[in-house]
Amino acid sequence: MSDRGDAPAILDSTITCPECGTQRLETMPTDACQFYYECTGCGALLRPKPGHCCVFCSYGTVPCPPVQASRRSCGSAPGECTGTEKTRPGSADPIDG
Ligand SMILES: [Zn+2]
Repeated sequence: MSDRGDAPAILDSTITCPECGTQRLETMPTDACQFYYECTGCGALLRPKPGHCCVFCSYGTVPCPPVQASRRSCGSAPGECTGTEKTRPGSADPIDG
């Protein structure tokens, strides 16, 4: 009922796979956007729809925490909703496998 802006963000979002319809409750990271999500049902690699910053904004029941905090729809390009969406050093897949 409260309309205060300091309400804690909802961190649980149910992702629905557009390929097979599998739904799974996932906890969102608060410090970064999740750009990829692998469906637990069919293994499809989900990516955000055009204009969305993360898979939760596209396929989840709840938009990502940065979007909740800013109280706006997710219409920004990746990187504009948080400053930490870029791949962190050392976390990327090795290229010279
Ligand atoms: Zn699926």
